[in-house]
Amino acid sequence: MSIINTQANCNDANEDGTLTVDQALKNMLNSVTESKATEHLPLVDAIDRILASPIISPIDVPAHRNSAVDGYALHADDLAVDGSFSSLKVVGRVVAGHPYQGQLKLGEAVQIMTGAQMPTQADTVIMLEHIEKDHDAIRFDSRHKRGQNVRQAGEDMQQGQTVLNAGIKLTPPQIGLIASLGISDVHVKQKPTIAIFSTGDEILNLGDKPRQGCIYDSNRYSLISALKKLGCDVLDMGIIPDDPEKIETAFLVASENADVIFTSGGVSVGDADYTKQVLAKRGHINFWKVAIKPGRPIAFGHLNGTLFFGLPGNPVAVMVTFYQFAVPTLQKLMGLSTALINPQLKARCSQPIRKLAGRTEFQRGILSLTDKGEYEVSTTGQQGSGVLRSMSEANAFIILEHDRGTISAGEFVTVQPFNGLF
Ligand code: AMP
Ligand code: MG
Repeated sequence: MSIINTQANCNDANEDGTLTVDQALKNMLNSVTESKATEHLPLVDAIDRILASPIISPIDVPAHRNSAVDGYALHADDLAVDGSFSSLKVVGRVVAGHPYQGQLKLGEAVQIMTGAQMPTQADTVIMLEHIEKDHDAIRFDSRHKRGQNVRQAGEDMQQGQTVLNAGIKLTPPQIGLIASLGISDVHVKQKPTIAIFSTGDEILNLGDKPRQGCIYDSNRYSLISALKKLGCDVLDMGIIPDDPEKIETAFLVASENADVIFTSGGVSVGDADYTKQVLAKRGHINFWKVAIKPGRPIAFGHLNGTLFFGLPGNPVAVMVTFYQFAVPTLQKLMGLSTALINPQLKARCSQPIRKLAGRTEFQRGILSLTDKGEYEVSTTGQQGSGVLRSMSEANAFIILEHDRGTISAGEFVTVQPFNGLF
């Protein structure tokens, strides 16, 4: 699928070559176009998928006038007036799924169940609890109103009405809504295929014996999980050692089999030249210094027509850059309407936070609601970019804006709840 906008301008950097977070994100978003690849799926398999076409109702819902309660259906002209009582003869009983076949005359009522179709001549229902029954007659007082307890045909949705827009990610109630229209098959976006690998001679596979100076691969696991939650198919390509030939081969295989490539590690100043050489031969990749903490070096571009994200190696930097850059970019590519992206709120910061102006920081925070009903946030403690625990204990990012300096306890800060993805 073609998802790369090769016309996009990626040269927005400041004089020293550093991009702000907003500039980097803008460049990434400008570089991708919505994928056109779609498929048809049975409704039961469509949960969390993105609608490719709007859902237009083929019918009125409800399809027929029906009773909202268990009770008696009657002509409003038979309602009792001002403090008096009415008595009517019960001539039948109508249950859901079996419409009343007779003609209802004045002076007559039909017992009706919730959801049952209204007899053509009836326009009002009195609920069971408001009725006195005496053999085949009913009696009721004058509190009732013309037309009460009746659901009109098309009251919920009308035939021809757009009930769901393209670009939304389907939720369980929406699946139910589509079912209520009698639609059993939906047109959705295809999941993009994401190839992912980790780089580094020091990275161990799970199950390997611990070795001096080596660490277990965590990035591939956090990224694969996040990608799956986002609704992508993942091609796990394992760990590639710091060897230009092996990296080049891995890039080629990935670009032939996936729509997007994610790597982690190997983009910091020391390694960058190395990866850069490999990539320069095959595509166009920018190595950006972004004014962000954590996550300063990021590689982004395309390789043989495949989108490429080279995330930093540090496990927290991976999560931050994935959430801030990759999620919105992938959502655009996947055709998700932007309204769902990343709500933010203001919360009182319970502690001072040291911060240098000139970069955006994403601290890991715990957001809570105080007894006074105010949002409060604290950090998860040690904020080093390798401290994955700081991320796993958090439920939100504390966003400390580019120009902001040190924060005092009690100041308001911007908080971005993880929103179900992390
Ligand atoms: P690099 O950018 O390759 O120099 O990596 C920066 C730091 O992140 C180093 O301490 C690496 O050991 C660590 N790192 C790189 N890749 C991974 C990974 N897949 N899992 C955990 N840590 C990693
Ligand atoms: Mg490395």
